[in-house]
Amino acid sequence: MNIKDIIKDKEKEFIDVAFDIWTYAEVGYKEFKSSKRLCDCLREEGFKVNSDIPGLPTAFVAEYGSGRPIVAFWSEYDALPGLSQKVKASKEPSVEGAPGHGCGHNLLGTASLAAAVAIKELIKSGEIKGTVRLYGTPAEELLTGKVVMVKMGLFDDVDAVIGWHPERLNMVMETPTSAVYQAKFHYKGKTAHAAVDPWNGRSALDAVELLNISANYLREHVPPGTTLHYSTITDPLAPNIVPENATAWYFVRAQKRDVAKSVYERLVRCAKAAAEMTDTNVTVEFCGGCSDYLPNRTIEKYLHKAMESCDPISYTEEEMDFISEMTKTLPGALEASQNQVRSDYGINVNDKLICDFFAPLSETKRKTCITGSMDIGDVSYIVPTAQINIACYGYAIAGHSWQVAAYAGHSVGMKGMLKAGEVMAKGAKLLFEDPEIIDRAKEELKESLGGKPYESPLPEGYKPF
Ligand SMILES: [Zn+2]
Repeated sequence: MNIKDIIKDKEKEFIDVAFDIWTYAEVGYKEFKSSKRLCDCLREEGFKVNSDIPGLPTAFVAEYGSGRPIVAFWSEYDALPGLSQKVKASKEPSVEGAPGHGCGHNLLGTASLAAAVAIKELIKSGEIKGTVRLYGTPAEELLTGKVVMVKMGLFDDVDAVIGWHPERLNMVMETPTSAVYQAKFHYKGKTAHAAVDPWNGRSALDAVELLNISANYLREHVPPGTTLHYSTITDPLAPNIVPENATAWYFVRAQKRDVAKSVYERLVRCAKAAAEMTDTNVTVEFCGGCSDYLPNRTIEKYLHKAMESCDPISYTEEEMDFISEMTKTLPGALEASQNQVRSDYGINVNDKLICDFFAPLSETKRKTCITGSMDIGDVSYIVPTAQINIACYGYAIAGHSWQVAAYAGHSVGMKGMLKAGEVMAKGAKLLFEDPEIIDRAKEELKESLGGKPYESPLPEGYKPF
């Protein structure tokens, strides 16, 4: 059976699923309709679906087949707050202030469904043997869903994991990503009239400011690649009221989980010192974290092979007009992307608005580290993991934007989604056909861990929401 044909046959069904999830636009841990939509479809396709994951009502694990190898895909389906958008090339929310798929996870979740269904058909026909799984992983934007699922042991028996993310390029996502620890520091002081008796007040906002100052000094003395970012939350008060409550919300990112952890612990000491200095109290609310992503080169090479065996995506005139209109909404972004492609791959795309090639593997790119984070990191520490990107937007795009939300409901995004499903399924098929690849991938993972056991960033008893 031909994977491309299997996906083509069910194309309408997949587009409907992706569009429904796009319409639901549910944020992390609230993706009830989106998760159910995927589970219903999987049950209809003959998968055994466990949607009763303790503490994670919007997670699921679906499975088809039996025995080894066990090759898994993952679905994400959470939206982002405030990014509701119509399928049009100018900013206009579908519902004012509502969430929207500004990271394209409706496409992400459905392409993985398509890949799992395609592999199921091959198992069903007897062409390959083993088990295919689809993990429904909630709240990717909060960077905790998969970390909790790993901690629960749900990935323990998997042999290889394959995934993707909508992007501006067709490529293997061969770059590691950063680990992150996040926490909110809640300060409680004592209010007073700021002019009449400030000596009776203890300002929670002063504590936040001192924490931020200390964090900004800390930056100089952390390993390269470590970043700190924060925002502050205070009661809406006036300058003549000493603030009783104030919170600083921090993300600490680093190229390795243990570095992120140690800098985070230093930040906690800064937070406590700020409370001491201001005579206020601080409560540290650990909000979660995830490990850095360890890409598996062995599997990546087969994903690349699978990608190169596919036909490139072609676009209609109407779709090209849409891409052209969208490009105008992000001045300067097209040139920046085109320059990046030239510097990364030596390919001139100056006359192109959207990626029309499959990028070669790059030894340089894989040695850099993305400063953002992905919760697949924790999975990659225990199972060989690899992923691809497929162009679902034009070169001119901004992450987490209304433009992404518009593309994610448009046929340009849907075409990328279907291609991603095809590439992932073709890559997985290669692993089913030659389990020695999996042995080599596991050996590679063992080497990159260097004997260090996996440590979850989450403490015992952690609850994600
Ligand atoms: Zn995303």
